[in-house]
Amino acid sequence: MNIDSIKNGYVIDHIKEGKGMQIYEDLKLGELNCPVAIIKNAKSNKMQKKDIIKVDGNIQLNIDVLGYIDSDITINVVKDSKIIKKYHPELPEKITNIIKCKNPRCITSIEQELDQVFVLTDKEKRVYRCKYCESKAK
Ligand SMILES: [Zn+2]
Repeated sequence: MNIDSIKNGYVIDHIKEGKGMQIYEDLKLGELNCPVAIIKNAKSNKMQKKDIIKVDGNIQLNIDVLGYIDSDITINVVKDSKIIKKYHPELPEKITNIIKCKNPRCITSIEQELDQVFVLTDKEKRVYRCKYCESKAK
């Protein structure tokens, strides 16, 4: 499988070896109806080994979250079989339902149906805090 086989979608490249599954889960790719491929342990010039995820579908992915998971990832946006955009994700201002607040007294620990929302409070130090109780994400 190569990039040419994707018509419209995303190629998420330079994923750290072994992190492909986590990203698959975090982006909820299992819920998509379109073809999704995870390539594990691909050879890389830049890294020893890497994972690659390909999503073949004309859809909007919540790609911002990748900036939190690993900002070294390369995102290729494919349209009509051409890469129209290639970039590294930036740290998102807000992340929803990716990390859980560890504070047992936080409202999200009591009200389980609440979204887990963390807000970027210090870009330089990559600090995220719970929107509700301001606990720091680890
Ligand atoms: Zn909290």
